[in-house]
Amino acid sequence: QDQQLPILEQIAWNADGLVPAIVQDALSKEVLMMAYMNEESLKLSLESGQTWFWSRSRNELWNKGATSGNTQQIVSLHYDCDGDTLLVKVRQNGPACHTGAYSCFYREGSVSGEATGSSASAAEDRFAPLSRLEATIAQRDAERTEGAYTTYLFEKGVEKIVKKIGEESAEVIIAAMKRDTVELRSESADLIFHLMVLLREQGVPFDDVLQELEFRHRKPVKKD
Ligand code: AMP
Ligand code: ZN
Ligand code: ZN
Ligand code: ZN
Repeated sequence: QDQQLPILEQIAWNADGLVPAIVQDALSKEVLMMAYMNEESLKLSLESGQTWFWSRSRNELWNKGATSGNTQQIVSLHYDCDGDTLLVKVRQNGPACHTGAYSCFYREGSVSGEATGSSASAAEDRFAPLSRLEATIAQRDAERTEGAYTTYLFEKGVEKIVKKIGEESAEVIIAAMKRDTVELRSESADLIFHLMVLLREQGVPFDDVLQELEFRHRKPVKKD
């Protein structure tokens, strides 16, 4: 396939003139939903920067969020090796699923085998709690789960979040100066949590922070 050809000519439309589009949260990388696009909806998506699909049940063009307000702003649009699947990375406003769930894939089948299951894979990776926290924060942001502290932070907005970061930083400092390691451990967790909420609120992917750390690691460290 010729890289020079425009995307519309590169798509291997199925027999119904459709192509499946996987929609992913550009911040948390979670898979949000899958829907079909036809040529018209792909054009509209590219032109408007919002997702447009073809509804097979309603037989009509469908601008995601037109009725619910849960729109998707396109960050990037890729197509796969053989052009038969789209990957659309978005800034999701509210839940992606019509049930009100953050992602359509909230139901899980039980799979046998050792390498599967959230507890088994979590045991392999000691940063799994951080990944789960990132996922929960994205979910709270989308679903605005009532009574949840994270929801409260998102509703209060940036000023409240940065104020908390100020407080938690001070608490980290106090614990460290007292050499109270129990308190330091707990306050560090508070600080990291609030920092991750802030990154989500600001639209900065946590991956960008990880990349930044990786990038610095390769250069000699300058002391200030
Ligand atoms: P919306 O596009 O969010 O305004 O929703 C309009 C309609 O599209 C809903 O009533 C659903 O029938 C359908 N819909 C919305 N989101 C999804 C989704 N993630 N998967 C399947 N159907 C959806
Ligand atoms: Zn393919
Ligand atoms: Zn759904
Ligand atoms: Zn604290």
